[in-house]
Amino acid sequence: MSENETISNNFVQQAIEEDLKNGKYTEGIHTRFPPEPNGYLHIGHAKSICLNFGLAEYNHGLCNLRFDDTNPTKEDVEYVDSIQEDIHWLGFDWQDRKFYASDYFDQLYNYAVELIKKNLAYVDDSSAEEIRSTRGTLTEPGKESPFRNRSVEENIDLFTRMKNGEFEDGARVLRAKIDMSSPNMNMRDPVIYRIAHTTHHRTGDQWCIYPMYDFAHPLSDAIEGITHSVCTLEFEDHRPFYDWLLESLGFNVNTRPRQIEFARLDLTNTLTSKRKLLQLVKDHHVSGWDDPRMPTLSGLRRRGFTPAAIRNFCNEIGVAKANSLVDISMLEHAVREDLNENADRVIAVLDPLKIVLTNVPAGKVEYLIAENHPTHGGKRYIPFTREIFIEREDFMECAPKKFFRLKPDCEVRLKHAYIIKCDEVIKDSDGNIIEVHCTIDPTSKSGGATANRKIKGTIHWVSADFALKAEVRLYDYLLKSDENGNFPDDFISALNPQSLIVKNALIEPSVKFTAPGTHYQFLRLGYFVVDYDSTIDHLIFNRVVGLKDSWSKIQNKG
Ligand code: ATP
Ligand code: MG
Repeated sequence: MSENETISNNFVQQAIEEDLKNGKYTEGIHTRFPPEPNGYLHIGHAKSICLNFGLAEYNHGLCNLRFDDTNPTKEDVEYVDSIQEDIHWLGFDWQDRKFYASDYFDQLYNYAVELIKKNLAYVDDSSAEEIRSTRGTLTEPGKESPFRNRSVEENIDLFTRMKNGEFEDGARVLRAKIDMSSPNMNMRDPVIYRIAHTTHHRTGDQWCIYPMYDFAHPLSDAIEGITHSVCTLEFEDHRPFYDWLLESLGFNVNTRPRQIEFARLDLTNTLTSKRKLLQLVKDHHVSGWDDPRMPTLSGLRRRGFTPAAIRNFCNEIGVAKANSLVDISMLEHAVREDLNENADRVIAVLDPLKIVLTNVPAGKVEYLIAENHPTHGGKRYIPFTREIFIEREDFMECAPKKFFRLKPDCEVRLKHAYIIKCDEVIKDSDGNIIEVHCTIDPTSKSGGATANRKIKGTIHWVSADFALKAEVRLYDYLLKSDENGNFPDDFISALNPQSLIVKNALIEPSVKFTAPGTHYQFLRLGYFVVDYDSTIDHLIFNRVVGLKDSWSKIQNKG
C-alpha cells in the first residue's frame, strides 16, 4: 500500500476530514510530535513521527517539533540533540517550528493564575503521601483536601510565594479544583504545579516551580494552534481533564486542539520503554544508546536499518484504535526489501578454511568479473589465486548425500569462478583439518567450454593473498519476549548472552576504501553495514539482518 493510501484509510485522517466537513479548523491542519527529552527516540516513536508528519503533509498542513521539557530532573540537551538528528534522518522536517514547553513557562504560569482567579485551582499544603491516600480508588470517591476552600487571595499569595522560592520542594502544590468524586481519577483535583528547586537545561534557575505534564501538554498544543493532538491510547483517560482545562480557560471549541488516541507500537523481542532502555545504557549492558542491538533510532541506524525501511514498516503496520503486537520480523522484512534492491553484493568469509588449488601456479593472479547486483549496477574484478578461503561449514569430510557443497571426491562451483574438485584433506597431528587440496576445471569459468556444466552447489570464497581482514559483528535480539511480547519483570536477567558475536572474517579487497554507513549484501550471509568506527586499517561490519525472511514465511502461512 502506498503512503497516501494508508493515510486516507486511517481513522485519524477520517476524523480530520469529518472536522473539515463540519467547518472546523478552517485555517488548516496542524499536528506536532511532542517528545520529552529524557531519552533517545525508539522505533515506537517512529510510528508517531510518521503519523504526525504524514498527516500534516497529506493535508497540506504543518507539523511542529515540540520538546515537552517540564521535568528538568530527567531531561538533557544530549537528548534534545539526538531527537532532532533522528527525525531528520527519518526524512522529516519541522522547518522553523521547533518549540519547547519551557518557551511557554510564563504563559503557563499566567494560565494557572487565571484558574486560581476563577476559583478553579488552589494551593494544597498536603504532602504527596496525603494527596495520594485521599485520592480514593476506582470504586471509592476521594476526600476533599482541608485546603480546598482557601480564598482566591490566599491562593494567589501562596502561589506567588511558591514561584518566588519561599518553600521547599514538596511543601505545597497547586491543584485544579474539579471533582473529588469523579469516576475518572484524573479529574480528582489533579496537581498542576509542583515545587522543584532544580536547574532546567534551558531556563536555568529562573523557575523553581514546574507545570505538570497534564497541565503543560494541552496548553502547549493550544498555544501553538495545533488542530489535531494525536497521542497514544493511555492518554484517553486524560482527555476529560484536557477538555476541562481548555474550556475553563476559554479556548474556542471550533479551533482548540482535538485529541485523538491511537494504539502504541509494541514489537516482539523489543523493549520500548525509555526507562528500561536508559537502564541498559547506564548499567553498561550495551555500549550506548546507539548500540546496534538497541531499538532506538540511533541503534537501528548504526545497525544498518534505513530510513526508507522504517517508513515503509510504519506505513505497513498502519494505525489502529486497539493495542496489538507486531512481529519484529516485519521490520526485518522491510529492511531486507530495501537492501535487496539497493545494496551491492560482495564476498566475505566469516569462518575461513584454507583451500589450495594444486593445479593453479603459485604467484599467478587472475582477475574475474563479478556483478555488483543481480539486476542493476556495475561490475568489479575479483582476484583469483592458488590459495583461497571458503566458509568452514561449506566443507564436510563425512557428508550426507544431500550435502551439495564441498566434500571429498566431489565438485562444487566457486561463485564467479571455477568448478573445483576436492582431492585431499590435510590434518594436523590432532586430526583437525588445516587445509583442503582441490583442483580446478580450467575451462569451467564463465565463457569457458565447460562453463555450463551442471553442478548442484555454489559456494563463496576469497583469495588468500588479497583478502582483507575485517571484524564482523553478528547480532541477535538483546532479549527475547514471550509470544505476547512480554519480558520477565527482572528483564536484566533475561539478557541474551549471544546477542553479539564477533568474527574475524576475510573480505574481498574491493571494499577497502568503503565509507561508514555503506550497505552490502555478503553473498549467502546477509546484509551488512560498515560501522561508524570502521577505518581502512580496521574494517568493521555490522550484520543488519540475515537473508532468511521469516516474515514472508509467516505471511504465506496465514
Ligand atoms: P515517557 O513519557 O514515559 O518518557 P514516551 O515513550 O511516552 O515515554 P515521549 O517522549 O513522551 O515518550 O513520546 C513522544 C511521543 O511519541 C508521544 O506522543 C507518544 O505518544 C509517542 N510514542 C511513544 N512511544 C510510542 C510507541 N511505542 N508507539 C507509538 N507512539 C509512541
Ligand atoms: Mg510521554
